[in-house]
Amino acid sequence: MGLIVQKFGGTSVANSDKILAAARKAIRAQQQGHQVVMVVSAMGHHTDELVELARQINERPPAREMDMLLATGEQVSVALMAMAIQSLGHRAVSLTGAQIGIRTDSTHTKARIRNITTERMQSLLDQGNIVIAAGFQGIDENFEITTLGRGGSDTTAVALAAVLRANECEIYTDVDGIYTTDPRIVPEARRVERISYDEMLELSSLGAGVMHNRSIEFAKKFGVAIHVRTSLSDSTGTMIVAAPESADQAVCGAAMTKDEARVTLAGVPDVPGMSHEIFSRIAARNITVDMIVQNVGAEGKANISFTVPRDELAVTLEAVESARDTLGEIDISADESVSKVSVVGLGMARQTGIAHRMFDALASEGVNIQMITTSEIKISVLVQRDEAQRALRAVHQAFHLDKAPDVRPLPPVQPAPRPLDVADVVASLRDLNMEQLVINDIQLDESQGRISIAGVPDQPGVAAKLFEQIGEAGIFVDLIIQSHKGRNGQASISFTVPRDQVAAAVEVTNRLAQTYQFTKVTSSPVVAKLTVSGIGLRSHTDVAIRMFRALSELGVNVEMINTSEVRLNVVVAAEQGQRSLAALEAAFADVRV
Ligand code: ADP
Ligand code: ASP
Ligand code: MG
Repeated sequence: MGLIVQKFGGTSVANSDKILAAARKAIRAQQQGHQVVMVVSAMGHHTDELVELARQINERPPAREMDMLLATGEQVSVALMAMAIQSLGHRAVSLTGAQIGIRTDSTHTKARIRNITTERMQSLLDQGNIVIAAGFQGIDENFEITTLGRGGSDTTAVALAAVLRANECEIYTDVDGIYTTDPRIVPEARRVERISYDEMLELSSLGAGVMHNRSIEFAKKFGVAIHVRTSLSDSTGTMIVAAPESADQAVCGAAMTKDEARVTLAGVPDVPGMSHEIFSRIAARNITVDMIVQNVGAEGKANISFTVPRDELAVTLEAVESARDTLGEIDISADESVSKVSVVGLGMARQTGIAHRMFDALASEGVNIQMITTSEIKISVLVQRDEAQRALRAVHQAFHLDKAPDVRPLPPVQPAPRPLDVADVVASLRDLNMEQLVINDIQLDESQGRISIAGVPDQPGVAAKLFEQIGEAGIFVDLIIQSHKGRNGQASISFTVPRDQVAAAVEVTNRLAQTYQFTKVTSSPVVAKLTVSGIGLRSHTDVAIRMFRALSELGVNVEMINTSEVRLNVVVAAEQGQRSLAALEAAFADVRV
């Protein structure tokens, strides 16, 4: 029958009854003829309690000791789970990350898995044991205990499923599947039958905490079918596989990152290399930066805004401060009271008016959009935190996400067939750095032009109106970026459209310029859009850095940028396109597949 990995999250092992219930599920799977590996999380809120305890003793606890502490949570639950299975008359062995041989790098509290040895697990399985693996933890080359980041047991589970070539990875949790958005925030959210790797990657990295985003990187890379389901019953849940639920659905889900912070640097010299200077220092601290938006201000100075997780703001500001020497007289401001609301969908790229629909929903709720970034498969906006839940709900409604899509082109869910080359990949895993960045495509698109508006008033409804009129004129918008106004500057909006629609887009924009008193509308008849595609582009903090470094060495200015999990888009001047393409090819040569 093959091998199955079953992961039980914190609430699913919160007390002895639940541990026994989980044990029975594993035993049943074994009796059905499977070899069973269980991955378990710390009981209930045990990890939160340990974090809190550490904070009471030390405001900023050393990361190594934090890992030492947090790894104990999973050690408790694996031992209890093994006892539970044995008490029910079956064979089980619990193993820590180190005992399994989950080797990671040394980035304490955010370690990445390098490789996993399978011999010990396989021989225990062959002897008839249920193997119980501690989630979330590993060991580095110096035998130091590491953890994978909060929620990381999902990643342990999918990684084990990959190396053991499991038929399926079941994720047992407190919801009965993946919903169109967090059902705790939006009760009318709908459970989906199936969701694609790319969509789930974006959703989880944009705030859908139901799955650790790096677990989906593994699933996509190694073709692991994931079944997310409830531990409370036997009902089937949601399959995360290669294909989306419906081929012609523009938006499949919405997500919110509640605790986001915005940083704005004003008065940055507008010369190539400045972004590299700033973001390399942040990336060196392993912080994921999102929504990077630049706008050129007066006198050769630019404003750069970006967002980081709120709990990493202090470290981010330290990093930025350390760049002052090079950047000169810059004004640094930050806002901790913001949230990011996003929609995701593979079908977005094929339909017009999606961005407008989102902006319109927000305008109707009177929600002011502080920043915008869009890419082919997601749109993110930054809003004030106390408006975020309302914003999420409005957006969910605007895309009718509570209703099942009409067309279901594919038959009911089956585990995805494994990619053909996966056997080779798995065979060579021991030499491979499993979580390494993978780039499979770099492209140059010279078919678009850009429109930029300076002096966008900071009030609800402007983006909604602008893109409504652009849409009504039959213009297809690709990338949209809205910068933050900063402390006393002005917001700006840039967007790209097909070359032959630039003139029409300028006309529409100029018409609105009077109403909204835009200070300036400029355009480029043609720009170069470069797209780097792969897996883990956002979670590997060095991706943007490689790009900034390569382009700044050429003296190329990045006009627009957007990062998603599977794609990095940058827009540069048209005449720089070919050279930039060559530079990016060189910058990513070592991770090209
Ligand atoms: P576990 O402890 O089992 O790992 P988590 O708390 O990490 O469970 O994840 C489950 C929770 O994720 C759910 O209770 C739900 O509130 C939340 N969640 C957020 N977004 C989604 C979504 N799109 N679909 C389902 N659940 C979601
Ligand atoms: N126990 C860890 C946490 O709470 C890992 C996990 O549950 O996935 O983050
Ligand atoms: Mg979780």
